[in-house]
Amino acid sequence: MRLACISFLLFTTSLAAQTGTYAIKAARLFDGKSDTIVQPGLIVVSGSKIQSIGGTIPSGATVIDLGDATLTPGFIDAHTHLTMGFDPDYNGARLRLQSRTIPEQAIRATVNARTTLMAGFTTVRDVGSSDFLDIGLRNSINSGVVPGPRMLVAVRALGSTGGHCDDGAGFRFGFLNHETGPEDGVINSPDQARFAVRFNIKYGADVIKTCATGGVLSPTDDVDVPQLSQAELDALVTAAHELRRKTAAHAHGAEGAKRAIRAGIDSIEHGTFLDDEALRMMREHGTYLVPTLSVREGLAESKFPPLVQQKADLAVKAQDDMVRRALRMGVKIALGTDAAVYPHGDNALEFVLMANDGMTPAQSLRAGTSVAATLLGLEEKTGTLEAGKFADIVAVPGNPLDNIKVTQSVMFVMKEGVVYRNDRRLNRD
Ligand SMILES: [Zn+2]
Repeated sequence: MRLACISFLLFTTSLAAQTGTYAIKAARLFDGKSDTIVQPGLIVVSGSKIQSIGGTIPSGATVIDLGDATLTPGFIDAHTHLTMGFDPDYNGARLRLQSRTIPEQAIRATVNARTTLMAGFTTVRDVGSSDFLDIGLRNSINSGVVPGPRMLVAVRALGSTGGHCDDGAGFRFGFLNHETGPEDGVINSPDQARFAVRFNIKYGADVIKTCATGGVLSPTDDVDVPQLSQAELDALVTAAHELRRKTAAHAHGAEGAKRAIRAGIDSIEHGTFLDDEALRMMREHGTYLVPTLSVREGLAESKFPPLVQQKADLAVKAQDDMVRRALRMGVKIALGTDAAVYPHGDNALEFVLMANDGMTPAQSLRAGTSVAATLLGLEEKTGTLEAGKFADIVAVPGNPLDNIKVTQSVMFVMKEGVVYRNDRRLNRD
């Protein structure tokens, strides 16, 4: 016990000791909100915050010169599942998960968190977990026990019996002994929706996630069917907003999405089969779209039963057209990837896929920085490079406005003034 305490202290002290005064230099800087690059880039960091952009380098500051690189705000992924791992063997994975103890799942989750941070993602909104693994991971990251992104967590995603959020779907009745109640995310009335929201928040949820329609990876539903009534979604969103939590709805089909939008949901996740009416409603309500285009990477590598494969093919085919229409109609789009459906750490692929669908590189970068920060309610703290915000800073080689793919080659990561990655220093040493 005593040994464990000492090593814990040493580790936290070593993380904390890394904050100080830094002058971070690079050929360019993208502030997360504008359309252009500033040259050269200089950020002065003091403690956990950005002290100034440009200006003079204070005496005694540690100078980090990243050379021919671009400084950007730390990236933000609005749709992750850090407590779940990518496993291309669908049927095997569902059973393997049931064989793992909670501690084993927690240890694996810390690896996913580290991998995500090292890919430049300093903040994530983690939209669905089990056994409070996300709460434990968030708290451990916040107290410096393990490295990882700042997390907003949802605890259990909330949905109807047999729906996309019901973990028991596809197993015989009773196989999972926790598949029937709102404590396990299964709701079947407005009252249960309210209870589940309050239950999740009681145990630490920062955000409420619901499944408004069927899903691709759920074994017993059609991907586009609505799975909650208008009254259930109204109750869920109202209960969450009253307790000052934002809400996110998994929705592939248009009808379920429209119910969620009418209820006042803050973001539609996936949105695969949204029609123009749904997109118009989103623009009118200010609802964000989180397209999760990156799932195609994992879906392509995975082995599915026929029903799931069919759904995956349909979804991947529909995504790009929907995002192009959403862009044309002026719907707000935030970056989110559904990490765990593909390997953790590949999150920056989403910048590239959004640009392929018609976003400018600057637009794509904003979707994963300032726009996502606003969706998460963190716009005062992160998402742009501005004095007073957290020193969440990433560097990519070259110029991302010329080639958005450089976001996949992050070379420097700072979160709240702590350097977690600096490839240039490693190369020199
Ligand atoms: Zn998801």
